[in-house]
Amino acid sequence: MKILVINAGSSSLKYQLIDMDTEDVLAKGLCERIGIDGHLKHTPLCGGKPVFNEDVAMPTHSEAIAAVIEKLTSPEYGVVASMSEIDAVGHRVVHGGEKFACSVKIDDDVMAALEECIPFAPLHNPANITGINACRKVMGDDVPMVAVFDTAFHQTMPGKAYMYAIPYEYYENDGIRRYGFHGTSHRYVSARCAELMGKPIEDLKIISCHMGNGSSIAAIDGGKCVDTSMGFTPLVGLPMGTRCGDLDSGVLQFIMNKYGLNIDEMLNILNKKSGVLGVSGVSSDFRDLDAAASEGNDRAQLALDMFHYWVAKVAGSYVAAMNGVDAIIFTAGVGENSKSSRAAIAEYFGYLGVKIDEEANSKRGEDIMISTPDSKVKVFVIPTNEELVIARDTKEICC
Ligand code: AMP
Repeated sequence: MKILVINAGSSSLKYQLIDMDTEDVLAKGLCERIGIDGHLKHTPLCGGKPVFNEDVAMPTHSEAIAAVIEKLTSPEYGVVASMSEIDAVGHRVVHGGEKFACSVKIDDDVMAALEECIPFAPLHNPANITGINACRKVMGDDVPMVAVFDTAFHQTMPGKAYMYAIPYEYYENDGIRRYGFHGTSHRYVSARCAELMGKPIEDLKIISCHMGNGSSIAAIDGGKCVDTSMGFTPLVGLPMGTRCGDLDSGVLQFIMNKYGLNIDEMLNILNKKSGVLGVSGVSSDFRDLDAAASEGNDRAQLALDMFHYWVAKVAGSYVAAMNGVDAIIFTAGVGENSKSSRAAIAEYFGYLGVKIDEEANSKRGEDIMISTPDSKVKVFVIPTNEELVIARDTKEICC
């Protein structure tokens, strides 16, 4: 059976077609500049077909989906003979609020509930909904579709972890609480970690560090998330590429008053001009920071030091939250690729008996244990695969 995985943004749409018998990706691609002009990069990964990389008019997401289906089924670039070979579609949805603690089959009731979640993720959920509607329009109602939520995995957090210490009615009336994000990634790498350790996940305490452009950490006890660093929005927790992470809210009042900023301008600074970019003044990309720091740029080094310190500090608090830890996982762009960041963070875990194997830490692109055999806590690098989780959930729910 073949499943199409869709991740729709406001002007972009990523996709993968996965053969679920083998879990091989048959084709993947990216539509960009939807609503502006339109560009499609379609990469077949089987059958020796060429890459398609050209402008395609995409006034709306419907034309983007239609272009994707056309390429997936075309004699020249296609990997299936017709749309009827696509058995189901899995959609990434950023926010499921408290309504969705797991993935669901999409119907009109689910669509209405997704609309209700828009205030929680005003930038992301509307784009996800637009992608689903476009897909239903182009592919028809007979193709089953599933929504997989970034927030769902974190719904197992206890109240003491997800509540904010503000008047209770904001939770009761408005749903203000910690939700967490990157749940699909944390779920995938923690399950894979248990497999690699050859132990039931129910017996393990795992700290999963998703370190990319956006970064979050999850404490996973017995396979269930018990705490995570992102909150009501993905702005908080660790300092990130351009997001500030945790910040005293009094700072907002001070800066807004002094510089006459409104809340939108302030949030724009905190979302897009802060994090390691804001501190370094160099870049949000950790490769640029590594290069600048090695040339003696002190602010680039400070930004890196802050990031490593925060990962260690939050992860350390999760050792306390779980009363122990068996394994620490690094994943996503920085976690999978930056041996210097992994080594710098692991330095802080000496008190846990963590020992890193330098040779293993130098390898890339594979699931690997980078701690030494006698390390008391095992440390892994596990490339994340959110698309595969979405496809697996879709298969389980639809077939
Ligand atoms: P993601 O959001 O997971 O796609 O991660 C993107 C980030 O990964 C980029 O902004 C880079 O900072 C980081 N990254 C990718 N490759 C490397 C590398 N070789 N060394 C350090 N950071 C990297």
